[in-house]
Amino acid sequence: MSATIGHFIDGVALDGNSGRYGDVYNPSTGEVVHKVALATADETCEAIRSASEALPAWAATPPAKRAQVLFSFRNLLISHLDELAGLLSLEHGKTIDDAKGSLTRGLEIVEFACGAPQLLKGQYSEMVASGVDSYAIRQPVGVCAGITPFNFPGMVPMWMFPLALACGNTFVLKPSEKDPSTPLRLAELMIEAGLPAGVLNVINGDKEAVDTLLTDPRVEAISFVGSTAIGEYVYQTGSHHGKRVQALCGAKNHMVVMPDADLDQVVDAVIGSAYGSAGERCMAISVLVIVGDETADRLVEMLAPRIEGLKVGPFTDSSSEMGPLVTPQHLQKVTGYVDLGVEEGAELVVDGRQIEVPGHEEGCFLGGCLFDRVTPRMRLYQEEIFGPVLSVVRAEDYEQALKMVNDHEYGNGVAIFTRDGDAAHDFSTRVRVGMVGVNVPIPVPVAYHSFGGWKRSLFGDHSIHGTEGVHFYTRLKTITSRWPSGIRQGAVFSFKSGSEQ
Ligand code: NAD
Repeated sequence: MSATIGHFIDGVALDGNSGRYGDVYNPSTGEVVHKVALATADETCEAIRSASEALPAWAATPPAKRAQVLFSFRNLLISHLDELAGLLSLEHGKTIDDAKGSLTRGLEIVEFACGAPQLLKGQYSEMVASGVDSYAIRQPVGVCAGITPFNFPGMVPMWMFPLALACGNTFVLKPSEKDPSTPLRLAELMIEAGLPAGVLNVINGDKEAVDTLLTDPRVEAISFVGSTAIGEYVYQTGSHHGKRVQALCGAKNHMVVMPDADLDQVVDAVIGSAYGSAGERCMAISVLVIVGDETADRLVEMLAPRIEGLKVGPFTDSSSEMGPLVTPQHLQKVTGYVDLGVEEGAELVVDGRQIEVPGHEEGCFLGGCLFDRVTPRMRLYQEEIFGPVLSVVRAEDYEQALKMVNDHEYGNGVAIFTRDGDAAHDFSTRVRVGMVGVNVPIPVPVAYHSFGGWKRSLFGDHSIHGTEGVHFYTRLKTITSRWPSGIRQGAVFSFKSGSEQ
């Protein structure tokens, strides 16, 4: 089977005409299952044109009506959950349970966006001066674009378009070319939910499509989620072309384990957060900073058998705990980091490189890997690996652990495991990271809070979804009005405070 996946413009599925295609794998078997069309600049412009033409009517649609469409979409998401999870796992490889969990996280953003009438409520101040009132409203930004990564092909697009549309914008989505079927299906379901054609378009592609979105003057705002190298480029290029840009990027999430932590709880937390989704999560724990050698020795001893016992297999086997990596190329990259760690002198306690999954010999599988005695000078520590590879770094004390986290170039997520409220509070206050967990390994904010890192994990001023999302997808307008009915002031040449007028 190798069907060709195209684009979705004006509410209609279209074949691509560039003659350029990307391979979409079933990573469980290593086979190419789809070819995805990679759009030309002209095709991308067609998607932008469609979104521009649909903008005036959609922006003028009352928020409550927009919310009705989103509410129907929410119901369709629920009734199509199994189908969507199947599509997602086929191209991404993650287990069906994990796929459903991520789609449900996306669904929660849709539910948040259904509150559009409330979210867009403005502020009103009566009598800011005699006979003068002032009010603030939030209006749509215009045509928005979203560029998304491979690891959450359902959830991350839903971090973006539901809220953008709720706010009265139209949208062009450029999903990852590695697993494009889920976002395309979401767009079809939006049309089934009653969305007018052109309000949401999907263009598949690579740099050519992205560059067109970044430079076309009709696009007002760009949401990007992906690696830091590309995100920084997107931020700089989009900003240079006058667009509002939020770029959520790479990560190296640390978990600090204090000597007083409940180590059984820590082991469970580490296994799920480092190896779930094969470590292909921007909030995965990839560094374990253990305070004190005694705690480190015990924890490594407890973790090793659990990692060796991970059930690695295809999504079609419901007992699988961890699936394959997304493509053969990504498998090679991650395996290269394991080789590098050995060369750099870290101690490879669990080596997942020789894993065999019977019947899936060509699948992109890598077993869980655990390194001990990693140091901050190693590339293994510094760089994002994005696979099931966990590094243990030993710290002498709490201050050294905190400094390590704060010195790292990334600042997406972090966790501390301790029973000491004082340490937890100090850590939460002083750590330079955007999302902090206290005895919570993956502190992903819920839909009505906002998601985003610090340092080189986010470029731009806004995190995504929640109130920050509403602010990103709207422009603030403040209106000051006088209805004089007979009051005449004459010309005023200097600023006056409200009380003077
Ligand atoms: P990626 O940066 O390779 O791709 C992201 C998007 O950029 C894709 O749509 C891709 O087509 C496009 N792109 C790739 N190369 C490009 C180029 N040269 N010019 C213009 N566009 C280009 O990321 P990925 O491998 O798909 O996803 C994994 C990365 O995403 C990891 O770094 C992970 O940490 C990050 N991520 C971050 C978050 C977050 O919220 N911070 C969430 C999920 C994933």
